[in-house]
Amino acid sequence: MRNWAGNLSFSASRVVAPGSVEELQALVRRVASEGGALHPVGAGHSFSAVADGPGEQVSLRNLPSAVEIDRERGVASVGGSMTLAQLCPALDGAARALPALPSLLGVTLAGAVATATHGSGEAAQTLAGSVVAVEWVDATGELRREELTGPDAPPWAVGLPVSLGSLGIVTRLWLETVPSYEVAQVVYERVALDELVASLPDVLAGAHSVSVFTRWREDEGSRIWCKRRLAASGQVEADPSCRPWWARTAADGPRHPVPGMPPERCTPQLGVPGPWHERLPHFLPTATPSLGNELQSEYFVGRDHATPVGEALCGLGRDRSSAFVRALAVSELRSVAGDRCWLSPAFERDSVAFHFTWLDDPDTVARAVEAVEELLAPFEPRPHWGKLFATTPASLRARLPRLGDAADLRRHLDPAGVFSNNLTREVLGG
Ligand SMILES: Cc1cc2nc3c(=O)[nH]c(=O)nc-3n(C[C@H](O)[C@H](O)[C@H](O)COP(=O)(O)OP(=O)(O)OC[C@H]3O[C@@H](n4cnc5c(N)ncnc54)[C@H](O)[C@@H]3O)c2cc1C
Repeated sequence: MRNWAGNLSFSASRVVAPGSVEELQALVRRVASEGGALHPVGAGHSFSAVADGPGEQVSLRNLPSAVEIDRERGVASVGGSMTLAQLCPALDGAARALPALPSLLGVTLAGAVATATHGSGEAAQTLAGSVVAVEWVDATGELRREELTGPDAPPWAVGLPVSLGSLGIVTRLWLETVPSYEVAQVVYERVALDELVASLPDVLAGAHSVSVFTRWREDEGSRIWCKRRLAASGQVEADPSCRPWWARTAADGPRHPVPGMPPERCTPQLGVPGPWHERLPHFLPTATPSLGNELQSEYFVGRDHATPVGEALCGLGRDRSSAFVRALAVSELRSVAGDRCWLSPAFERDSVAFHFTWLDDPDTVARAVEAVEELLAPFEPRPHWGKLFATTPASLRARLPRLGDAADLRRHLDPAGVFSNNLTREVLGG
């Protein structure tokens, strides 16, 4: 039992996949009464040990997971085990959409929400930011439901979505959706690194969703993946992204984010319009995403720090013999709007997320991660929970102001730590 990247052998003794919510409740009761441990796992796409479990892992893959849409409120009710690849066409079929999507669709909704998975967009929050209600099986086996908004919502409910799997087994999530839309995707290349870094906030604000790919080398062009939303008329919206200095270098064919990898694995580019969920993810749901054998890390910093952080990383990129340069396949920079979820790396902070796709060389990557964390420390970076990081619990406490409340909530909902694993114990106690 390994995660998607194969960098972790899960320590759990087995994976149990109940066929109904009642079976799931009975499972939780049994494990709790035996003083055992049970941790939820989704599609296993996290690089960190966030989905590992010291006892058994529980997967909801055998639970029915239909989508129901309240058209009046624009709220979708979705089974937690549903993958984004299953969810998005169902939403689109009902003329609804999500404002942003991660680079791949193979992850489960519950797993993606639990780690605050995100896409890119000035106005787009993490997926957890769209959650308006959560249903879960708690540590006593009770099926509970809590609203996050409205007069009856308890103030602690905003601690529920980004749970790291430590609060219970999420069976259903209610998501705010937006009207469906079309997107046209264009890649610009040969972008000068110094120019890019100097105007990073503007570049990232240049379209509905923008991803910058770079290897932090001044002798190598960087690339801008620009995903523009189409107006209802079918015309590409005139947006401020057509700045002369980067719009002059549109790629003449499809591109893969990692230089040298096959572009056939990517969603259509070259400005061909298509539904939001067939353009916002970089990778086709049927293809291997990214490199395939890789590791990943990502850090969120406040938007004001985007350019200084970029300048610091340019400095790291200059030392060709460094672990950073040797380990890095590519970096991706994205914009994420602040949200209210206590453990979200974008908690109450409009952010730029600096992502690193590393080659599959764990020792060099460990040194590179240390170097990046040391360099970014003055900018109070918050790590992505699903990716590799070395940030100490003390630094996490200093950078996530509601982490103490999240730890109290975990203790309150699961005093015996039935759902805890090593990572959540370090961060949240229990
Ligand atoms: C190639 C690749 C590309 C990626 N691209 C992006 C990206 O663009 N943006 C981004 O933000 N991230 C990205 N990620 C990271 C990924 O989105 C997260 O790690 C995500 O959490 C994985 O979802 P999963 O279903 O695999 O969950 P898992 O990794 O299995 O679990 C993640 C967490 O969710 C919890 N969990 C799972 N199911 C439940 C449940 N039913 N109830 C309660 N908790 C549950 C687990 O306990 C764990 O804490 C990428 C990962 C890969 C491999």
